[in-house]
Amino acid sequence: MNRKQGINDIELKGKKILVRVDFNVPLEGGAVRDDTRIRAALPTINALIEAGARIALVSHLGRPKGEVKAELKMDPLAKRLGELLNKPVPKIDSIVGEEVEARVNVMSDGDLVMLENVRFAKEEEKNDPDFARILAKPFDFFVNDAFGTAHRAHASTAGVAAFIPAVAGLLMQKEIEELTRCLEEPGRPLTVIMGGAKVSDKIRVIHRFFDLADNLLVGGGMANTLLIAAGYSLGASFHEEEQLTVAAELVAESKKSRCRLVLPSDLVVTEDLRKNSLNKVLPPEAVKESWKAVDIGLETVAMFRKVIEQSAMVVWNGPLGVFEVPPYDRGTAEVAGAIAESAAYSVVGGGDLVAALEKLKLSDKINFISTGGGATLEFWEGKELPGIVALMDK
Ligand code: ADP
Ligand code: MG
Repeated sequence: MNRKQGINDIELKGKKILVRVDFNVPLEGGAVRDDTRIRAALPTINALIEAGARIALVSHLGRPKGEVKAELKMDPLAKRLGELLNKPVPKIDSIVGEEVEARVNVMSDGDLVMLENVRFAKEEEKNDPDFARILAKPFDFFVNDAFGTAHRAHASTAGVAAFIPAVAGLLMQKEIEELTRCLEEPGRPLTVIMGGAKVSDKIRVIHRFFDLADNLLVGGGMANTLLIAAGYSLGASFHEEEQLTVAAELVAESKKSRCRLVLPSDLVVTEDLRKNSLNKVLPPEAVKESWKAVDIGLETVAMFRKVIEQSAMVVWNGPLGVFEVPPYDRGTAEVAGAIAESAAYSVVGGGDLVAALEKLKLSDKINFISTGGGATLEFWEGKELPGIVALMDK
């Protein structure tokens, strides 16, 4: 199932290793607000330290667009990583060149250093081969642990692998294994839950899982578009007008498909999308005029729960309501609870749903949470991700 070489397939002791991590975390007042992504890279970093590698970490942070931006320097990340590792992580202000080379050359086994924000270099996002070459120059190996950035063909995610042998980090390997399993060896029955805002963002993933899954449960803004395509009007609800044809095709397909498509049978609606605003629960045919569907109702939750209880595997992408505005996070929370209580193996992907589960403190109920947003969707679509393709095959 895993076709790429990892850190256990190469000699690590005394080797100079460039490690691409995804430390693109939210900052607040110059400090790290959420260190989930830093903690996700710890297994690889610790394994490399223990094996006696000489490590330089590189990541992007924010969108500096090829310019040095003081507020996007990597110093707070180095500081936070140092706290997590219980030892200081020196940070240098360069990405490539003499300062990096000089530093790497005086390192001892097990030392690590953090390089500057790789997107301060305008060549990074262009995947400039000359830049990739000098980025690789001081090192013996490249380890890519930045799954969340693997769908980008940039110098530090893909280009650098043309110059030094490249392998997957432990997080990258785990992501590949878990996400591949959903596609290639899913538990049966396989239930896929899709939510979030747009059909257009996810139509290829929906199609892929529609061919593969036993049940497809849909909620969120995306369900509005499907319900409208199925003939309901849904008042002033968010939907994508230009996706109605695609949505209607999917609804029609579901009549012949082996996969059962389940749309909400009741919706939480409001005229005023604010915290604790006045709301009611209606079946789709009763949503009229200025009312907006902003969450799934409890009847839908019960229906989803029944399907989840009978599933061996649940794959979930996208929140089922406007979770940012309570109580419209309830459908998402209830379904997470149903997954937690079921025996099904659960895999979750997608930036906003992961944030919602964190906020609801339900993340630990899920068996595997992908660190990718766009990368996870592209992986499930079946696209080849440049950051994975570039790694050495087994
Ligand atoms: P993910 O990042 O998990 O893949 P998306 O980016 O597709 O999810 O969608 C997340 C957004 O969808 C959230 O901002 C949420 O408010 C919105 N959303 C969910 N349900 C609805 C709805 N019924 N109407 C409007 N927006 C919704
Ligand atoms: Mg999102």
